[in-house]
Amino acid sequence: MERQGRGFRRDFEEREMHKATCSDCGQECEVPFKPKEDRPIYCKDCYRKHKKF
Ligand SMILES: [Zn+2]
Repeated sequence: MERQGRGFRRDFEEREMHKATCSDCGQECEVPFKPKEDRPIYCKDCYRKHKKF
C-alpha cells in the first residue's frame, strides 16, 4: 500500500464548507470558500443565474 503524503488529496479532503446566506434570495447555503462580507454569496440556483451573462 502506498501512503498518500503528497498533499493533493489531503488538501481536497480538508476543504471545508462554510455557511452563508445567499445575497439574492436570502436562502442559507454552503460555499467551499470563506465568505467575505464585501462579496455577494449566491446559492446554487442564484449562482447559475448570475453566472449566465
Ligand atoms: Zn439564492
